Amino acid sequence: MAIEDVLFPGIDVRVTAVHAAVEGVVVEAAACGRPPDCPSCDCAGRRVHSRYRRSLAERTVAGRSLVTSLRVRRFFCERAGCRRRTFVEQVPDLSERYRRHSIGLRQWMRSITTFVGGRLGKRLCQILQLPTGRTHLLGLLTDPPVPERAPRVLGVDEFAFRKGWRYGTVLVDVEAARAVDVLPGRDAVTFAAWLNCHRCGAAGRCPLRPSQGGVPP
Ligand SMILES: [Zn+2]
Repeated sequence: MAIEDVLFPGIDVRVTAVHAAVEGVVVEAAACGRPPDCPSCDCAGRRVHSRYRRSLAERTVAGRSLVTSLRVRRFFCERAGCRRRTFVEQVPDLSERYRRHSIGLRQWMRSITTFVGGRLGKRLCQILQLPTGRTHLLGLLTDPPVPERAPRVLGVDEFAFRKGWRYGTVLVDVEAARAVDVLPGRDAVTFAAWLNCHRCGAAGRCPLRPSQGGVPP
C-alpha cells in the first residue's frame, strides 16, 4: 500500500517526503490531478505559470500534529478578454482557497463544535493537538435553515463577531448534530424571545426574524 493511500485516500496528491519537525510530522506532497478550470471563465488551465508551497494543518496521526506542505500549481488563463490572468489549483477534498486547515480537519472541528460548543471544543482540540481557537470553531457552523420549533435538546454558546465589540449566540440541535440558528447579541432576553416564539411554532412572527431571512444587521 502506498503512503498516499494511507494519508490521502482518493485524493490527487503525490507524497515526496515525510519528516519530523517542531510543529509535528510534516508531509511534503504535490498536487497531481487534472488541471482546474479558470474560476472566472471556465477555460481549462493548460500552461503552468509557477508552483509554490502552502501549509495545511491536517488531522493528527498517532497523537502527533500533522502538517501538509502542499505544492500547488498556478495556471495561466489563456482566454482573451478574461479578467483573470492566472489562477491557483485547489485539490478536491483537501484544500480550499485561503484556508489554512484541510477540508478533513475542518470537518472534524465542525463536528466537535456541533457536539460540545466553542468553549469546550477549543479545550478538546488542544488535547487532540488540533490548532484552533473558539471563534474559529464557531465560525465553522454554517448559517442554517431556522426550524419552526426549538429542538428537544438545545445547545447554546456565545461567540464574538468582533472581539469585545459585537457578540452573537449560536444554537445547536444536539441530537441532530447541527446548528439551528445564530442570534444577534448574547443577552438572556434575546434568547428567551427566541425560545418563546419557537416553542409555540410561531417562528414566522418571531420578532428576531420577521422574514426568516437571516440574522438582522
Ligand atoms: Zn479565465
